Amino acid sequence: MPIAEAVQLSPPVHRLRPRAEPAAPILLSPPHLTGGELPALAATLQSGWVAPAGPAPAAFEAALAEATGLPHVLALASGTAALHLGYRCLGLGRGDEVWTATLTYVATIAPAVQMGARPRFLDVSSESWTLDPDLLERELARAARAGRLPRAVVPVDLFGQSCDLDAIGALCGRWGVPVLCDSAESLGATCRGRPAGQGARMAAFSFNGNKIVTAGGGGALASADAALIAEARGLANQAKRPAPHYEHETTGYSYGLSSVLAALGLTQLGALADRVAARRAIFERYRTCLGDLPGIAFMPEPAWGRSTRWLTAVLLDPALGAPGREAAREALAAAGIESRPVWKPMHLQPAFRGAPRAGGSVAAGFFERGLCLPSGSAMTVIQQDRVIGVLRSL
Ligand SMILES: *Cc1c(COP(=O)(O)O)cnc(C)c1O
Repeated sequence: MPIAEAVQLSPPVHRLRPRAEPAAPILLSPPHLTGGELPALAATLQSGWVAPAGPAPAAFEAALAEATGLPHVLALASGTAALHLGYRCLGLGRGDEVWTATLTYVATIAPAVQMGARPRFLDVSSESWTLDPDLLERELARAARAGRLPRAVVPVDLFGQSCDLDAIGALCGRWGVPVLCDSAESLGATCRGRPAGQGARMAAFSFNGNKIVTAGGGGALASADAALIAEARGLANQAKRPAPHYEHETTGYSYGLSSVLAALGLTQLGALADRVAARRAIFERYRTCLGDLPGIAFMPEPAWGRSTRWLTAVLLDPALGAPGREAAREALAAAGIESRPVWKPMHLQPAFRGAPRAGGSVAAGFFERGLCLPSGSAMTVIQQDRVIGVLRSL
């Protein structure tokens, strides 16, 4: 059957989207598909290039270089794969220390731990909810005195908000410690006018289905350093040396991004500015309609960063009259609305029990009181009103 017919036989795209009827469940951050993806997918299939090679991954990488301002980009099968390759290219080894913000998703640190590195979890600042530069400065000075600097510092751009990468980069630069920025949640954000991740030695991005734009699964590693990305590119394709037989001086991974997914990602990337605007508008509407409730506070946006508001995060303080975070989550769930607690800090996760940490309990407090509300860019006003109605009724 010709591809065009096969595509027409597939379910109409509106069935892939959350429906607007009040009874349909409202998800936290579902993929936003418009149907505009279908011609790109059909063309990719018709071209015969479906593997992780050919024009689609290259075009996706070029578009990402444009969007991130980082000239060298490697498209990958996931954001976790990007972080893994980032660690590998930094030469991370057994026993090395990796410092990261404790308030993050597990993928930030999991590959490093699997490589035998020792994580150290630093608290976040309440100004941005991201890695606290003042704390980092003190800890780096202390580590330098002890002759035990970390192998890498991995700040995290959280819920669409970039970390203070200029400050973090300057501090790490002082001690020669490379920065691998986990920008998976903040494609489209800016930090002092520059795209999130720019300024780090390397930055990792994700195109998971829940992210602001998706490839249906995918990631990217980006850098201003061509040699680093060239090395990562080789490792992502099993570290094959150019020989008619396959010659391997080291071993790599099968981490390439399929052309089919790259084509989807490329179409989605074209809508990034619209998706940022939609998510920011949803955040503003929540703030307008809920901001007067006692004990509620919205994730701040520091003067130096423009967030995408990938997820709207609120703090609920029962001492000031708000419902508890779990009470709110359960009430929303009972109404068919998905919400999620703010990330459980890594230093509280059983998998990292005993790992050293630094700083206070800012992140722990955000976890205790923080809730992420449905923030999908295709969310309708009616759907937003359902969420608002449940929260106001508590
Ligand atoms: C989504 C995400 C990743 C990468 O996730 P993948 O599902 O592997 O693409 C990494 N770090 C953070 C903070 C994330 O939110």
